[in-house]
Amino acid sequence: MADSENRAKTWSRFGKIAGCLILVAAGLFVLFRAIPRYRFNAIVLHHSASSADNYESIKTFHAGSRGWRDAAYHLILANGSTSVPSGFLEATGRYRLLSYSPATKDHWANLRALHLCIVGNYDNGEVPAGLRSSLAHALRALQEKYGIPDDRILFHRDCNGTACPGRFITKAKLNLWLTKEADKCPPAVRRQQGEVIGSAWTFPRLL
Ligand SMILES: [Zn+2]
Repeated sequence: MADSENRAKTWSRFGKIAGCLILVAAGLFVLFRAIPRYRFNAIVLHHSASSADNYESIKTFHAGSRGWRDAAYHLILANGSTSVPSGFLEATGRYRLLSYSPATKDHWANLRALHLCIVGNYDNGEVPAGLRSSLAHALRALQEKYGIPDDRILFHRDCNGTACPGRFITKAKLNLWLTKEADKCPPAVRRQQGEVIGSAWTFPRLL
């Protein structure tokens, strides 16, 4: 009788400890995964290094070449080369779930940064004039939602040895686009980007 009482007490204590641990884990999960301002501390810009692509084709390519279940990035900015209109954003499953991105060789950049890929090869030529305002607006909207300062907009080449997002995209040009072009983004693109950026499973902007 005493034995079974002791067992019951041990189990009840174990249950309380397990309950507390689950609560702490859930709290940390909410803090770091779902509250926008805690989830990400940088944006990393990539290019697709191809002339025509979109979420679907990049997803297929990454599944075939790397064995990943989704495209490496969180967001893909269309250049109008497919049925997705120029400047429109596509959110991958990684963005909706705010999950890890294997887009660089830097583990922390993969864990704590939003990875945005602009379609096009910017080793071969300039970002088209019409696409600069869309890129700048997308970056501004992400900065606002996730509280990311200008100096935390990084290029893939800041994380590991690569030319990505291409030698024609430089910090000086990007700063110019962010200050002078973001406001020129067409209303339809602005609206579409806003909807996509708002589609992540985050808590309302309370924090
Ligand atoms: Zn890249």
